[in-house]
Amino acid sequence: MNRDDRVKTRKLMIPGPVGLTDEVISALAAPVIAHYGNDWMPVFDETLGHLRRVFHTTNDVFMIPGSGSAATDAALGSLLSSGEKVLIASNGTFGLRMVAIAENYGQDVIHLPFPLDRPVDPNALRECLEADPGIRLIGLVHHETSTGMLNPLREVAALAREYDVPMLVDAIASIGGVAVPVDEWGLDVVVAVGNKCLGAPPGLGLVTVSERAWALMSSQPRRNHGWYLNLETWREYRERWANFHPYPTTLPTPTILGLRASLKQILDGGLEAYYARHTRAARNVREGMQALGFGLFLDEAYVCPMVTAFTLPHGVSQDGLVHFLLHEHDIAIAQGIGDLRETIIRVGHMGLATSDAYVDALLSGVQDYLSKA
Ligand SMILES: *Cc1c(COP(=O)(O)O)cnc(C)c1O
Repeated sequence: MNRDDRVKTRKLMIPGPVGLTDEVISALAAPVIAHYGNDWMPVFDETLGHLRRVFHTTNDVFMIPGSGSAATDAALGSLLSSGEKVLIASNGTFGLRMVAIAENYGQDVIHLPFPLDRPVDPNALRECLEADPGIRLIGLVHHETSTGMLNPLREVAALAREYDVPMLVDAIASIGGVAVPVDEWGLDVVVAVGNKCLGAPPGLGLVTVSERAWALMSSQPRRNHGWYLNLETWREYRERWANFHPYPTTLPTPTILGLRASLKQILDGGLEAYYARHTRAARNVREGMQALGFGLFLDEAYVCPMVTAFTLPHGVSQDGLVHFLLHEHDIAIAQGIGDLRETIIRVGHMGLATSDAYVDALLSGVQDYLSKA
């Protein structure tokens, strides 16, 4: 097989992006259509409707071309002016990224770091909120993909309501894998992407915005942070060019067609069943890997259904294993990031990677490596 063909058969079991179902691939394999007018608007509206069901929300939803980080960048830059205070709790790479984005906007960041293997503690956030009434926004990563940690979003959201401080959630790697009931939990701005648990191609940042978040934005002088990654620009064009081109720029129509196809499949099968697939695959991978001598990086109480981080049996090289799986079994898994680069491997259980075929292939590939290494 040549390189291109091999890449086509590769099983992605990384923490995103994910492989695509045949239905999504067919949706992508079509001529480009224009991103406005009567042919396009029903597709656009239907996709937004599907997204509202997945986010469990009646809030505004935007699809902004870009990656997940673009969506977080748009959210932070739109919500606060430079100099305003944001409280961000972190326990991994993506929490730190949220801090970096806020700092690059010149925001006054109160950073509350936790150890990589501990969930964010709502009591510590409470102390900060109690001590500093100047905090205008709380930021949290729901699923910290660098370790597979699921942070206690519901509890933090309850605090945000108690202290009447809007909340920004990076749900990039949790939407589709576990329920994120945006309205029920009162999550003001939630960012996500299509290319993790939602099984769609990369290229779209997804953002939900509550009334309280719009109120925060309009309560201050216009922020000085540009035009494109500015939620108010997206809202303005939604009104101004409604029913024909309700966004300021060209949209990647093939990517949206792919997302629509994937969301339709998920919703047709039922969200609960889709979450259950993730839970089941994660459990099977964990049990299988533990039987082969791998350890869980996190305490069992904190593991999540979307990504699992494993420590390696004595003498097993993570570089060797990752390379072997890729080249001998056509399976991509991930190494650790940052300080955990050498210590852990990470296996994604997102979208297609939840299938038994993927899980079985992974476990037999790892077994093959151990028998040869
Ligand atoms: C993948 C990921 C990101 C970054 O997304 P990009 O699309 O690469 O910008 C941010 N946060 C979390 C939790 C992620 O898993």
